[in-house]
Amino acid sequence: MTVTTERESELLASVPTGLLIDGQWRSAASGKTFDVEDPATGKVLLTVADASAEDAAAALDAAAAAQDAWAAVPPRERGEILRRAFELVTERADDFALLMTMEMGKPLAEARGEVAYGAEFLRWFSEEAVRAFGRYSTSPDGKSRLLVQKKPVGPCLLITPWNFPLAMATRKIAPAVAAGCTMILKPANLTPLTSHLFAQVMQEAGLPAGVLNVISTTTAGATTGPLIKDQRLRKLSFTGSTEVGRRLLSDASETVLRTSMELGGNAPFVVFEDADLDAAVNGAMIAKLRNMGEACTAANRFIVQETVAEEFAAKFAEKMSAMTTARGTEPESKVGPLIDAKSRDKVHELVSDAVASGAKAVVGGAPVDGPGYFYQPTILTGVNEGSRILSEEIFGPVAPITTFTTEEQAVRLANNTEFGLVAYVFTRDLNRGLRMGEKLETGMLGLNAGVVSNAAAPFGGVKQSGLGREGGLEGIEEYLYTQYIGIADPNAG
Ligand code: NAP
Repeated sequence: MTVTTERESELLASVPTGLLIDGQWRSAASGKTFDVEDPATGKVLLTVADASAEDAAAALDAAAAAQDAWAAVPPRERGEILRRAFELVTERADDFALLMTMEMGKPLAEARGEVAYGAEFLRWFSEEAVRAFGRYSTSPDGKSRLLVQKKPVGPCLLITPWNFPLAMATRKIAPAVAAGCTMILKPANLTPLTSHLFAQVMQEAGLPAGVLNVISTTTAGATTGPLIKDQRLRKLSFTGSTEVGRRLLSDASETVLRTSMELGGNAPFVVFEDADLDAAVNGAMIAKLRNMGEACTAANRFIVQETVAEEFAAKFAEKMSAMTTARGTEPESKVGPLIDAKSRDKVHELVSDAVASGAKAVVGGAPVDGPGYFYQPTILTGVNEGSRILSEEIFGPVAPITTFTTEEQAVRLANNTEFGLVAYVFTRDLNRGLRMGEKLETGMLGLNAGVVSNAAAPFGGVKQSGLGREGGLEGIEEYLYTQYIGIADPNAG
């Protein structure tokens, strides 16, 4: 184990390294393990159990066995477990933040932000657990009564990505707990440690054995594939790339498995000439550099009205060039490493392709030498409309700028993608902002705002960005099904 400080060693020593199955942390049936690395140094942080299909089957056995008793636990009690978990995560915010920075790379300040955001799902759904309302009504012909009730869908498989190791897990686990579902969590193999620590906190908060099972693995497809085909599994909630999402949707069709899909994005960031340019630049910094650009909500294409494009680019460049890259634990770190060498090389490939077809790197444009997978914060101007960088998810700290002249052209450019997760629009004209909301094909819109994530709001996309919503009033619905009972008229005799 190679770590840099005593505090880091102590924290790592407190993280469970096994698989959580039926309330017990255990080794993989095969005895296999895998290493988790620090992307800022490339060094091993911890070695954890590597699940196979056999372990996954044991996890589903546990989840299926616990389902009925868990669904019968009063909603208030389920809510109180979530509330305790919220308090425990908040008390241990520094531990969660440091662990995320170590395994994922984001600067500590951002990791603290994610802890607050991730914990908020626990608080929000602790409140929603008691509000899964149905209804009782008289049928239109008066001859019967209609009883509509909400019931937990049953055992769920939750698959999460590496970019928000805590929030992507709580955004699924909290509504599933609130709804009365049992679950199997499969975290990303690059960042399983935060999920392990969080699962331990859920145990401390009083979650019964078997309700939450955790199977970290390096063989995602082989390990979870049989679960998706098992009739006892009733729900798949996946956050990750559109490519893997498509494959899972196809697998899920075999048992007509209910799915929620939070997939990739290609967010346009549209700046009109009437915008407050300083506010737009501040919004651009957040929308681009949050999580080093490794976010599905990251602004991927800056579409700026021609009349202000030069001024916007100059102000944006001044801020971007002041951003320091360093391991997220360093006080000067504003931009951490990318998750691995493959991601960094892909970012550079997209930048090189854009530059080869005429774009200019006004800031950055290259990987950073030395250990870790850092990439320079980069701004590209004069990007050709056909460049790959405008159609693929960049997942790095790179901002390509293109220009437009009319509102219609801005809408056309913004919608010119198979993705539809989020868009950002900066304008002082509220009517124009709302008009853009009507014309943009996205599940979310940031109006003069560079970040939209909020536990109280429905997060999700349209087109190939996904199906379903997480958070808000809608979030718990993904884990409930509606049952209708037709009742004969009680007055009929
Ligand atoms: P990914 O490669 O699709 O992986 C996501 C998860 O799926 C990981 O846990 C991965 O496991 C697992 N997985 C991969 N292949 C699988 C298979 N055949 N069967 C079952 N599970 C499989 O995505 P990523 O690189 O981790 O995450 C980045 C992507 O997530 C981006 O496209 C981003 O836009 C998207 N994202 C979307 C949202 C949203 O809310 N819309 C939020 C965050 C991220 P391994 O780690 O073991 O490969």
